Amino acid sequence: MADLDRLTRTFLELLQINSPSKNERGVADYVKPRLSALGFEVHEDNAGRLIGGNAGNIIAFKKGNLPGGCSIFLCCHMDTVEPTADLQVKISDGVVRSSGNTILGADNKAGIAAVLEGVEEFLSSRDSHSDIQILFDVSEEIGLLGAKNLDKSKIRAELGYVLDTGAPVASIVVSAPYHESIKVEILGRAAHAGVEPEKGISAIVAASNAIAKMKLGRIDFETTANIGVIEGGKARNIVPDRCVVRGEARSRNESKLAEQVQHMISLFTEEAGSIGAVANVETTREYSGFRFTKDDEVVQLAAEAARRVGIEPELQDGGGGSDANVFNEVGIPSVVLGVGYHNPHTPDEYISLEDLKKAADLVVSLLTLAAERR
Ligand SMILES: [Zn+2]
Repeated sequence: MADLDRLTRTFLELLQINSPSKNERGVADYVKPRLSALGFEVHEDNAGRLIGGNAGNIIAFKKGNLPGGCSIFLCCHMDTVEPTADLQVKISDGVVRSSGNTILGADNKAGIAAVLEGVEEFLSSRDSHSDIQILFDVSEEIGLLGAKNLDKSKIRAELGYVLDTGAPVASIVVSAPYHESIKVEILGRAAHAGVEPEKGISAIVAASNAIAKMKLGRIDFETTANIGVIEGGKARNIVPDRCVVRGEARSRNESKLAEQVQHMISLFTEEAGSIGAVANVETTREYSGFRFTKDDEVVQLAAEAARRVGIEPELQDGGGGSDANVFNEVGIPSVVLGVGYHNPHTPDEYISLEDLKKAADLVVSLLTLAAERR
């Protein structure tokens, strides 16, 4: 069982290290010696340089000393959203929260603390284990940049666990959507709005006509779409010749995603065309989705690990992307596990130490079961 005092100390120390995306240096420098002391080979990659950050992904590996066993990796991100500067931590009745206007950063420092404590406890309580890999990655919050820039051939694990979602502890996110972003540049023709508006073609009108007819919001139980940014025009008295619209669509069903994206593209193209404007559409696959059932090994192992620490795990469908999307895309079955924090990305973020301890116990349990697998 996890040592609550040591775990709390680790968590509070991590919270005190300010680490918004691209500024994870302090956390990287904190975890590296901790992992080395536990006998891991620790490597920092060049993701930081690739994305303009000050730290790379931390990849730690400890060779197993068992025949058989199942090799797993545990992943948490080192960055947090903002604001975080001058974070004041308050603990009352066993609950840790931010006392000011900043976020707490339990997303994802609770995960890192649970992994460090769980691994330390596991290794000190038994001599035999299978291969263990730990990935503490960078800039997850700004588009999974660390995971996307990780050299996937460095991953030496059969199954992956991303400890990066809120309460309840040990909930298992078994699916996540496919996600496509859309950028549309609409080009019309400028004209003086008072003198000769007939000569103009308004890019803003074209965009508005398209958006007004578009299915947006929750399309069905597994599909969503949004137009999030619209920028265009130069002055009140000029018919705008350019307008840029940015949006997205997500679905846990890939063909529904394709259908929704096509719907959005067609409307922009048709509505622009109908008034003589042109729409240049660019779509980008941000990440691919995944779906597991309770019978898949990656889910079974986590569910059994949860039960061993007295939790009946909740299987959830995810609505967003996480590092697990990236790992699944390269063929390593990976799910997201609940760490127990509440209200992430807000100043009301909090976590109870009791839940944090359960998350660390879950890590011990996962490693134990992985070692027992034949
Ligand atoms: Zn997170």
